Amino acid sequence: MLENLSQFGLHEAFWFFLALNAVIFTGSVVGCLVLARVYGGRRIFDRWEPWRGIEMAAALGSILLNAAISAAGWWLWKRGSIALVPSTVPRAALDCLVMILAMDLGMYAFHRLAHHPWVFALVHRFHHRHEATNPISLFVLHPAEVLGFGGLMLVFLVLYPMTLGGLLAFLFLNVAFGTLGHSGVEPFPERLRSVPVLRLVGTSTFHAGHHRTPGHNFGFYTLLWDQLFGTLHPDYDRQFRHPRPCSSDAS
Ligand SMILES: [Zn+2]
Ligand SMILES: [Zn+2]
Repeated sequence: MLENLSQFGLHEAFWFFLALNAVIFTGSVVGCLVLARVYGGRRIFDRWEPWRGIEMAAALGSILLNAAISAAGWWLWKRGSIALVPSTVPRAALDCLVMILAMDLGMYAFHRLAHHPWVFALVHRFHHRHEATNPISLFVLHPAEVLGFGGLMLVFLVLYPMTLGGLLAFLFLNVAFGTLGHSGVEPFPERLRSVPVLRLVGTSTFHAGHHRTPGHNFGFYTLLWDQLFGTLHPDYDRQFRHPRPCSSDAS
């Protein structure tokens, strides 16, 4: 695969990544709809947020920008600024874990900054138009947020020589967590909170809780940084163990 990618010109790479990101978007939307059907008994919100035209346009913009960021990553890899080192399964698992924790910390910091009143008004309010969620919420972002996330990922990849397996696992989990967090249902079993380490996984309840009460739950993949910095919603345990369909304006 890497050999084929290295033969591409910039235009080919962009179209390739645009098609790939369109597939990822479709997979995430279908994933949300399937989760909502399968786990309908564990609903977090009592309705989907309406599908509005401007938000669908923003989602298309996110797909385009994600393709551009992917092409930028491809270009950095081609000129040797990003290294993809040979993969073994343990090394790939370690790399994926390192990238999850580092990106989660970076996103936690930027997300808290995004809730500063000035930045919120200019940039992040757009994502919070979704007080409940719907299958495109993950992509309803201001362009600055899409570029910020992509930029953070590229900086990490320039600094940290990843294995291809670790990077692919991270990219898969990134979409999986984003899909889960906006699915409006809680697929994780109640006993997850009793399992050491796994109890820190960022659940659907966790991100839905941020949409409901934006002063809490700023992390994305884990509860770790919210626990450390005291921003985890105080009622998170009850909300997770006993998901009840809530109206989006409930606090
Ligand atoms: Zn969200
Ligand atoms: Zn937010």
